[in-house]
Amino acid sequence: MRVLSAVFHRPGDPLSVEDIELDAPRTGELLVRIEAVGLCRTDWHVMQGERQVAMSPMVLGHEGAGVVEALGPGVDGIAVGDHVVLAFIPGCGSCRWCRQGRAHLCALGPRITQGTQVDGSCRRRDASGREVGAFCMIGAFAQRTVVHQASVVVIDRDLPLDLASLVACGVPAGIGAARHRARVKPGDSVLVVGVGGDGINVVQGAKLAGATTIIAADVVARKLEWARAFGATHTVDSGSADLVVAVHAVTDGVGVDHAFVCIDPPATLLPAFRATAKAGNVVVTALTPTGHTSLPVPPLELVTSQKAIMGSVYGFASPRVQIPELIALYRRGAIRLAELVTRRYPLAAINEGYADLIAGRNLRGVVLPFA
Ligand SMILES: [Zn+2]
Ligand SMILES: [Zn+2]
Repeated sequence: MRVLSAVFHRPGDPLSVEDIELDAPRTGELLVRIEAVGLCRTDWHVMQGERQVAMSPMVLGHEGAGVVEALGPGVDGIAVGDHVVLAFIPGCGSCRWCRQGRAHLCALGPRITQGTQVDGSCRRRDASGREVGAFCMIGAFAQRTVVHQASVVVIDRDLPLDLASLVACGVPAGIGAARHRARVKPGDSVLVVGVGGDGINVVQGAKLAGATTIIAADVVARKLEWARAFGATHTVDSGSADLVVAVHAVTDGVGVDHAFVCIDPPATLLPAFRATAKAGNVVVTALTPTGHTSLPVPPLELVTSQKAIMGSVYGFASPRVQIPELIALYRRGAIRLAELVTRRYPLAAINEGYADLIAGRNLRGVVLPFA
């Protein structure tokens, strides 16, 4: 079937919106009609050549939500008509990590930049017959996709799918970093550096976990206003103020219990580290372009301060557990989803959506492929 898709060809070029030939689902796979897909900086890193993928052309997009339209052989527990969120790290169910209930660490994870399906082959071809990959084994910047059941989380049918797309990536990544990685406790103090798609959700995750001091830092004034609305108690314009001085002023010179680096780690890790209290946690959620091979950590201070520096992907918990849990928290009014969406775009305007993201105009842009 021919499917309108936004395709990555080479670094630096905008995505090309074109018809791609999509094969029928094979064993363990299903066809999903994509109703909504979020615009995330991770795909932008690929478009800029800052994160290498193993093949091109490739359909990008990893924050998809939609409706199951057809099943291949051997699909278990998923039916046509089910509403689904696509998990950008598949859970094979059988590796040591999946058996521990930690599908965010699944052995298939390192393969998400390869472009191939779980079985190693491709389901997409362009007009010239060339094989086309799917980013994160998903390729959600398209009207339809074929994914393995390992990438699928079934959700309730009454949740609007544009909101469901948010719980595919940024919401679990941010809220989970606070709850599951740093394990923020009631009364803790938190610093969030960069309050975009991930950082704003760290703010609401810290609030959910009972943090009483939540400091948001960003260079975009509008993002600091949004952070206040999501629970930040203090804001720092990190373009003009010295972050470490500002955090120490709020925390009686102690620093925060947990600092989250949600943008540009090469530039922000050191101030975040120095703004963290002794024995505190520094959690890095932002991706660093592959050209950078180290981060500035003062080795003597690392030991004497007894701080922990840790990475966090997908909120450090299985998407199969987190996604239903986050939807339940949304229904209870404990977290916000609708307010995360700044603007919706048709697929043809996807590059405009990325321009808005990079200019700091969006908290989250969502593409509606059938709009
Ligand atoms: Zn994402
Ligand atoms: Zn696995």
